[in-house]
Amino acid sequence: MRIVLLGPPGVGKGTQGRCLAQESGIPLISTGEMLRDAAARGTPFGLEARRQVDAGLLVADDVMIGLVKERTSELDAAKGYVLDGFPRTVPQAVALDDMMRGRGPLVVVDIVVPEDVLMRRLAARRICGSCGINASIEWTTACGSCGGQLVTRTDDEDGVVHERLKVYHRQTKPIVEFYAGRPTFRHIDGNQPPDVVTAALSAAIREASLVPAPVKITPGAAL
Ligand code: ADP
Repeated sequence: MRIVLLGPPGVGKGTQGRCLAQESGIPLISTGEMLRDAAARGTPFGLEARRQVDAGLLVADDVMIGLVKERTSELDAAKGYVLDGFPRTVPQAVALDDMMRGRGPLVVVDIVVPEDVLMRRLAARRICGSCGINASIEWTTACGSCGGQLVTRTDDEDGVVHERLKVYHRQTKPIVEFYAGRPTFRHIDGNQPPDVVTAALSAAIREASLVPAPVKITPGAAL
């Protein structure tokens, strides 16, 4: 099972992706988390990426494609994976199709939430300073997983969020069009309680996975 979660910042891809990956026994591959990790480790790549991320901009396509290619070829990803944050541009989507060649269908789910709700969620979003898990100060004051202290992501600061939403509309939204005509593409409503979204996501994936693969007709073959 290879699943792509699409949607703007704050739509719930990370939260839902984590549940889905746990339920399905496949890894969650979050490019945002990979970049934050590299930045926290202080690698030259991580520090360079942080400059882009903190300005609300995207990291270069070739760098992200290389990173995802490497991660998806690790052993734990052989059975499948949930991608959160990739692809984020049309060239990344084209590269993903290339990586997927001969590996079964890619299920793509676009999570939809109105922009005013996104802004409210991003203002309340925090991550755990110890384990990096997402949390919202609308619901909690400490990390639900390890009890760690919650901190604001630098790219969730007020000015940066506006830039990220602009970048989303300019560079990422076009990939919804890129996938929209495929039989394994679905939209779901992300403006519902988290467990209702989880159920809608599972149902969409189940239904999309049942779509039969296109039959290859060899010219001249007897039918
Ligand atoms: P969110 O959860 O709000 O959508 P992420 O945690 O996925 O944000 O990503 C944080 C930042 O990391 C992005 O704003 C961007 O700068 C960078 N990033 C993550 N994935 C990619 C990608 N596929 N291509 C380019 N930049 C990326």
